Amino acid sequence: MHTMRLSAEDPAAPAIAAELIRKGELVAIPTETVYGLGADGLNEAAVAKIFQVKGRPQDNPLILHVTGAEQIALFCHDVPQAAYRLAERFWPGPLTMVLPARDLVPRRTTAGLSTVAVRCPDCAATREIIRLAGVPIAAPSANLSGKPSTTTAAHVLHDHDGRIAAVVDGGPCRVGVESTIVDLTEQPPRLLRPGGVTPEQLKAVLGELAVDRAVVAPIDQDAVVKAPGMKYRHYAPQCQVLIVSGTRSQAASYIHAHFAPGDRVLCFAEELPLYENCAPLAYGREDDAATLSAGLFAALRQLDDPSVNRVFARCPQGGGVAYAVENRLKKAAAFQIIDPEADT
Ligand code: AMP
Ligand code: MG
Repeated sequence: MHTMRLSAEDPAAPAIAAELIRKGELVAIPTETVYGLGADGLNEAAVAKIFQVKGRPQDNPLILHVTGAEQIALFCHDVPQAAYRLAERFWPGPLTMVLPARDLVPRRTTAGLSTVAVRCPDCAATREIIRLAGVPIAAPSANLSGKPSTTTAAHVLHDHDGRIAAVVDGGPCRVGVESTIVDLTEQPPRLLRPGGVTPEQLKAVLGELAVDRAVVAPIDQDAVVKAPGMKYRHYAPQCQVLIVSGTRSQAASYIHAHFAPGDRVLCFAEELPLYENCAPLAYGREDDAATLSAGLFAALRQLDDPSVNRVFARCPQGGGVAYAVENRLKKAAAFQIIDPEADT
């Protein structure tokens, strides 16, 4: 199959992409979070293609992308007022809400769950594709399953050239990590995944917010989890990733003592001078967490190379979007964290 390259700036692109979606084809779409591998979310056969092309486990549900709050009730029932308050405040934007699913949403889309995740992306061309297609677009991140997410059209083509109908190039994703997911079927609402909308921002609207264990700790493989996708290894390059915690100098001493040929260091831009002989790669600035979220997946993809033996990574701490970066990096490292103080 030839994969068509469309530009989000081309006024003709949304109609072409929408037509492909209506025909049941796969189209990779730009959003402010990451690129999505999109298909008609109401068409079982089209949704099945997403799982097949991505190699995605069948029990990992998809997010339905919609044009705005006016579409929530089309696909969800018993929608609480809180959902509309959140949509009013954060849509279009990096917030996904889990709500009870109407029967027209195929169980293949929700991976058998009675709930469905909905989000309105902050990318005008993509909203126009959804509007013209006349259906919600189901889209997981466009990476091959288990790999770091796709934040450029080139990443999408690397994983899927020749296997999908089209990719719409909207440039590098602004946020760079997947959407925040909040489950509104529980009281208090529960944070299932941190993202560009921060827990602090959610609490300001919701009052109370529970945080799912999967956000902060590894998942027991046999555990019954709220969103089954949370239990899989995620975001990881093929080699081992080790997070080295501690202060700048503690981490640098530990890494210098253990560095071997073939290893790489994934660090903050401020730390580059500390690792001159350790093949360092900076993914953003520690004092500006938005640069870390925007750069993380491109850096992890660069390190996903057979020549790389092991990655020592520096992980941000704190609230805001740093919390989402910490979550992704810890999952990429399978929660292997070295405390240099304890090690000496
Ligand atoms: P991705 O778009 O690849 O980031 O994956 C979408 C993620 O959304 C899944 O892995 C789940 O964690 C979450 N999700 C989607 N639908 C639901 C749902 N109905 N309930 C809980 N989580 C969901
Ligand atoms: Mg994903």
